[in-house]
Amino acid sequence: MLTIRNLHANIDGKEILKGINLDIKPGEVHAIMGPNGSGKSTLSSVLAGRADFEVTEGTVEFQGKDLLELSPEERAGEGIFLAFQYPVEIPGLTTTNFIKTAVNEVRKYRGEEPYDAVQFLKLMKEKMKMVHIDQSLLSRSLNEGFSGGEKKRNEIFQMAMLEPKLAILDETDSGLDIDAIRIVANGVNQLRNKDNSVLLVTHYQRLLDYIVPDYVHVLYNGRIVKSGTKELAFELEERGYDFIKNEVNEGQ
Ligand code: ADP
Ligand code: MG
Ligand code: MG
Repeated sequence: MLTIRNLHANIDGKEILKGINLDIKPGEVHAIMGPNGSGKSTLSSVLAGRADFEVTEGTVEFQGKDLLELSPEERAGEGIFLAFQYPVEIPGLTTTNFIKTAVNEVRKYRGEEPYDAVQFLKLMKEKMKMVHIDQSLLSRSLNEGFSGGEKKRNEIFQMAMLEPKLAILDETDSGLDIDAIRIVANGVNQLRNKDNSVLLVTHYQRLLDYIVPDYVHVLYNGRIVKSGTKELAFELEERGYDFIKNEVNEGQ
């Protein structure tokens, strides 16, 4: 699904990612954890194709294609969903119309006919039930005046509608309260199947009580310094990130 080799990336000439290696196979959920400032959001941004990050070395392959050559729109067309790709507030554009455009852009990219109103409504109804989102939220302007929980629900709804092959969720929000955690977890758990993969970027062990990952990786100072299974998340919860820092520093 996704193969990252020796990925290095800069922002403003400063190296943030210093050689990331990661393999994600179909059906797997990988969690990336790590202390603040270790480069977690930078990794998500680079995979999203955000222009302010410069890849200086390494490769990223997604389903056999060179991901780094693709625009953010092409990445979406290939089946990558990035939760923080659409955080913008757009007055006058309803959430429904926004999602309809996004879904049909992806279909167009794949050479499929756009959904007509009836087909789209059917899909909406099915997914609304799945993520427990209310019609009234979807009729409002995109993200305008949405609470934190509503933004999260909307984001997960977009993910459900787009049925991505690989969902990348960067849970940067320090205000990720228990409701938001449940919304995200429910959405991810619904998406999980043998063909889809999830890269869950989080600072919080607590999220992993609700989404049980197949693998956990610790990112520290721009490198994955430790990988394991869900037991690693428990260890981090118990011991904090300091033991990782000590292990890395002793090894140098
Ligand atoms: P994390 O998500 O793990 O907390 P980030 O990827 O956000 O870490 O940040 C990694 C490093 O990159 C930090 O030292 C941060 O200060 C720096 N950084 C992130 N974004 C920018 C930016 N836009 N300009 C300059 N430095 C940045
Ligand atoms: Mg941070
Ligand atoms: Mg971050």
